[in-house]
Amino acid sequence: MIHALNVEADEAVWQAILRSSVRSVEELRHLLELQDEQVDWVEDSEFPLHIPRTFVERMEKRNPRDPLLLQVAPSREELNSSEGYSPDPLNENEFTLNGGLLKKYANRALVITTQACPVHCRYCFRRHFDYSANQLTDFQNTLDTLANDPSIVEVILSGGDPLTLSNTKLEVLIQQLQGLNHVQILRIHTRFPVMIPQRITPALVEILSKTRFNVVVVVHINHPNEIDDSVQQAIERLRNAQIEVFNQSVLLKGVNDSVQVLSKLMHRVFEIGVVPYYLHLFDPVAGAHHFDLSETIAIALWKELQSQLPGYLVPRLVREVPHQPAKVIQT
Ligand code: SF4
Repeated sequence: MIHALNVEADEAVWQAILRSSVRSVEELRHLLELQDEQVDWVEDSEFPLHIPRTFVERMEKRNPRDPLLLQVAPSREELNSSEGYSPDPLNENEFTLNGGLLKKYANRALVITTQACPVHCRYCFRRHFDYSANQLTDFQNTLDTLANDPSIVEVILSGGDPLTLSNTKLEVLIQQLQGLNHVQILRIHTRFPVMIPQRITPALVEILSKTRFNVVVVVHINHPNEIDDSVQQAIERLRNAQIEVFNQSVLLKGVNDSVQVLSKLMHRVFEIGVVPYYLHLFDPVAGAHHFDLSETIAIALWKELQSQLPGYLVPRLVREVPHQPAKVIQT
């Protein structure tokens, strides 16, 4: 039994971390002890800088090429437009059934629960989303759509990040989904266990473990330096509740485009109880072309990775292509 006071205190901790995230390039530069001439960052009002201090603390000071920093610092290169890079590279607007529901693949539906995230990743394929339009404002409408489609056996909570919702809201949402008898699996896509591990509170774990669903959590870790003791403990709390945890990474130029880094990442992920699942090729989103790698290089890297790791540590190298019935596996 979890004490109500502890629940409130735990909620207050992660919410305070979320509220106090670093939001100015000047503060970021100061915290990392970087000289003005070492960085070329811009303020971006459309997709502003937003990094939890718990993540900044894992970055190496005085290193402008730190692989964690590169994922979240708004480089001036974002301003250069590049042909072939689109605001909606996966044509998600086309697959949106109602305000907050996407159905791209058979038997699964994805619910956009919120527009908020614990961090703004500069390479995010949803960085141009009009989240206010896609925000889940009428969950009854979403429920009705799901209820009328018995083919859906898995509901994916996404966003933004669904764990930005309070436990109370999340619990209500899950309870409502439980009324849909044909839904068996609840999948949660989240970066919280890595960005703000304090979000994985005992109360949250209890909410997830007491549902009738098979619960799957998919985290997103791109570099081994993202994993520290607090991340490991958050994953342990999920795993101790028999919740399966998978990892998906995005292959990013300058961040994790080497066999040594990817190999270390897969070993570290496995050490903390997470299954390496997908290695995504970069989705060509406008403003993030500087993270892109050619498919030829990506496949060569993946093949070398395959030769270095046991099969169970090799993630599937995939690309999401609009109108394909599943992610396309590259080999
Ligand atoms: S949706 Fe995921 S990848 Fe995109 S900004 Fe939010 S946490 Fe980052």
